Amino acid sequence: MVMPKEHKGGEETGLPNGFSALALPDPLLRVLSALGYREPTPVQRQAIPPMLAGRDVIARSETGSGKTAAFGIPLLERVDPALSAVQGLVLCPTRDLCNQVITELRSLGRYRPNLRVLGVTGGVPLGPQRQALERGVHIVVATPGRLLDHLARESLRLDALRVLVLDEADRMLDMGFRDAVASVVAATPEQRQTALFSATFDDAVRELSATFQRDPVSVEAAVELHGLRQRVHQVSPARRDDALLAVLAGEQLDPVMVFCNTREETERIAGLLQDHGMAADCLHGGRDQAARDLAVARFRNASTRILVATDVAARGLDIDGIATVINLGLPEQPEFYTHRIGRTGRAGAAGLAISLVGEQDGQALLALERQGVSLPGSVPLPKAAPDVDYGARMQTLLISAGRKDKLRPGDLLGALTGEAGLQADQVGRIEITASRSYVAVNGQVAKRALVRLREGRIKNRRFRVHLV
Ligand code: AMP
Repeated sequence: MVMPKEHKGGEETGLPNGFSALALPDPLLRVLSALGYREPTPVQRQAIPPMLAGRDVIARSETGSGKTAAFGIPLLERVDPALSAVQGLVLCPTRDLCNQVITELRSLGRYRPNLRVLGVTGGVPLGPQRQALERGVHIVVATPGRLLDHLARESLRLDALRVLVLDEADRMLDMGFRDAVASVVAATPEQRQTALFSATFDDAVRELSATFQRDPVSVEAAVELHGLRQRVHQVSPARRDDALLAVLAGEQLDPVMVFCNTREETERIAGLLQDHGMAADCLHGGRDQAARDLAVARFRNASTRILVATDVAARGLDIDGIATVINLGLPEQPEFYTHRIGRTGRAGAAGLAISLVGEQDGQALLALERQGVSLPGSVPLPKAAPDVDYGARMQTLLISAGRKDKLRPGDLLGALTGEAGLQADQVGRIEITASRSYVAVNGQVAKRALVRLREGRIKNRRFRVHLV
């Protein structure tokens, strides 16, 4: 867990530095100062601005990351105490968590004395909750079951709700609250803002987000440093390319993501690696969406083994199973470091983060240390190992049809194993987007698959197929 060890900046009596950059009103800044919050934590810095702007947010964050204030501050700001209606709702898996959230909301909310926050949890009588609701409440913090009780008894209405927060969404799902959450959401207006906070993102959490959120901004702040190996090589900028090649040659590290600080650098490095026979590609904001999607699809498909990216382009991308992250220099913003390295580690296995650091990274190193992240000392570059190979493992077929054409993975698998005569184990990952599909196929049979698919039909129709 990356938590600031201490919150520096801001004089003892002054306003907190970091928070004033988030465009918060002075009375709230004074409360934060009084609470001793001097700098926003990474999840706060990233989640507060989009939430204040009314955007949906999906955040990966754990207890201790400052997540409660990350949604609590915008929640308090977006509620109008003059309007007597429930405008904010936080759903939590347990009573304990509800109590923690209420405590934090009340302490942050003291700059708005007329704003009422109520806990609605099981295990206590309904009567007093009902009376409090009748007197008027602006924000409700609830467990799903008890909330449904009140909805059924009509002691609570959610038709004026503005902001819905699903806190610890993964735990709510684990505890079997999926349907209860859906019933609660059904009682809220379509035009609400929905924030989802979760320590983990699995398919069930993604499904929840896809069902109840609209174009959410994704925020990734909490990173477990334990179990993640970090390695540092001190190299001068002039020697960095050679050092990168040496690092890659020392050990089979793929799939690898290499991070650079500029677009030009990603292009140059991807070119360098390709020149050395490696299946590398780059990802940056200057490439159009189709090219970026393709780069990511090929990387997921093992057609590319090394993806060289900028922080901005990699943000929000969900790529699992990255074995190694290599930093060509440190990012200026410390939270980018934790985003980068948080991408490594396959199920169960520890990830590895290798940083090639030079004297120009001194400031970035200090900024990281202020965030409680310390890097290990520099070690010598490895010697080349035999049989290290970063060539493509699979090839990727691009089919110009997708969900809009009602195409499903089974259709493609069927066409490849039927029409094209491939064995099921020669077909890898199948990814279907709105209008395109990407299929990983074994390199030895890729040409055959291409020809057969072009000649044949998929779901009784002909689509364009390319090897990309
Ligand atoms: P949470 O992740 O919401 O459970 O918060 C963890 C703890 O950090 C709580 O006790 C908060 O009061 C505290 N906290 C939250 N944000 C900050 C901040 N920006 N600076 C210092 N402490 C904070």
